[in-house]
Amino acid sequence: MSNYSEYITSSEWRSKHKDFLRRSHHRCSMFPWVKCGRGSRYNCHHMNYRNLGNEKLWRDVIVLSPFAHSFIIHGVLSGFRRPKQQKQYPNTPQKIAHLWCCTPVLIRAFMTSLMLSFLLALFLSNE
Ligand SMILES: [Zn+2]
Repeated sequence: MSNYSEYITSSEWRSKHKDFLRRSHHRCSMFPWVKCGRGSRYNCHHMNYRNLGNEKLWRDVIVLSPFAHSFIIHGVLSGFRRPKQQKQYPNTPQKIAHLWCCTPVLIRAFMTSLMLSFLLALFLSNE
């Protein structure tokens, strides 16, 4: 990871963003209702560093809104530690979040509605 900071500020890396953004439909992978790019701030987030320089979207990289990136992935889920400072990156909560981000939106919407109806049933049965 010694070349990481050099790479992440390079035009080579920057030039890949456009394609990542387009294929993410200019949406945050965690919160699809948040716009990314075209004037909105965003982060191209590395889920791992195995293919540095040869990243593929959904395998190594996802597009995230700054909130999902800084506050959720590198915040709450890692105790606000950078990957370098983590014993293991990604840790288990981050792996689960990555998986969630890479799951198609329709499947996530279905799973969310399933969870909500389960909670609603639970709530109503306690009345
Ligand atoms: Zn990141």
